[in-house]
Amino acid sequence: MSYTTEHSPCGHHVSKLKLIARTRTTPEKPKSLRIWRCDDCGKLYMELTGMPCEMTQETYDSFKRDGLLKEN
Ligand SMILES: [Zn+2]
Repeated sequence: MSYTTEHSPCGHHVSKLKLIARTRTTPEKPKSLRIWRCDDCGKLYMELTGMPCEMTQETYDSFKRDGLLKEN
């Protein structure tokens, strides 16, 4: 399914996406990326080029373990 402004890739409405964390900025990566969780299905999304792209719980956990996240 392609992304529209109304629905995230899991098919649920974008209003179900809850901002749960942001990536920490570093001199190499000065832009903080937002990470959302879908309230309906629990899927994780990371902002890439302004659009939510699915990320796995494993990736999220490894980011967290490496101290790359600021959780809400
Ligand atoms: Zn969903």
